[in-house]
Amino acid sequence: MNTYGDNGNIITIVKRCQWRGIDVKISNVSIGQPLSASDFDFFFFGGGQDKTQIIVGKDLIQKAKKLIAAINNKAVLLSICGGYQLLQNYFKTKEGEIINGISLFDAYTAGSKERMIQDLLIEIDPELQNEIKNVYPAIEQSNCLTNLIGFENHSGKTYLGKNSKALGRVIKGAGNNNEDHTEGAVYKNAFGCYLHGSLLPKNSHFADYLISKALERRYGPIKLKPLDDSLEWKAHNWMVDRVRNQG
Ligand code: GLN
Repeated sequence: MNTYGDNGNIITIVKRCQWRGIDVKISNVSIGQPLSASDFDFFFFGGGQDKTQIIVGKDLIQKAKKLIAAINNKAVLLSICGGYQLLQNYFKTKEGEIINGISLFDAYTAGSKERMIQDLLIEIDPELQNEIKNVYPAIEQSNCLTNLIGFENHSGKTYLGKNSKALGRVIKGAGNNNEDHTEGAVYKNAFGCYLHGSLLPKNSHFADYLISKALERRYGPIKLKPLDDSLEWKAHNWMVDRVRNQG
């Protein structure tokens, strides 16, 4: 699924690896195709409209066991919006149709009449912030590594289970449900969120964090070579300033 250009996240991961001489192979696994999950270090699952989710959701159940085993074996996963919802316990569409999820994230989503569509700015969970700071090889330390900026467009409202960890706290926007100020969910190296954008081009600190975790499981802790992210941070900071000044 790739609503709103979420594949831009894959392009970012590939380029940031290639710029460092790290070889990357991409495989698109579609419905009806087997998932040899143990071959993958990084999974990406983009957004999709309710109708698409009904089709993809049925197929995902067949892939669940291997995907969850890979995540439990420290593989990295980034999921956005519709993909994020299908990785939860279930998604009840606004028409009342239940799409069973695979319970990778202990959470559920209920379709609502409210469409949450706007820029979304969050403060990253403090523990994850520290991990990112230790990994991201910023040239200028002045860059603010504490937040993520993107945009959201969903009517589903996600509610986290009591033991679930949020990706962060909403500064501006709706996030999971426009009620409890949480955004996204984290389980081991699996991340779900509503941050379209696509997310990673303007959040290179998070992109590099995901790359380093994906490499670490196969090669042990690694130090990524710094890249010139001045353009990425210009875009990031411009968007953050615009959101903060929106009142
Ligand atoms: N169909 C889901 C919703 O509206 C997800 C939409 C999306 O992926 N942007 O909540």
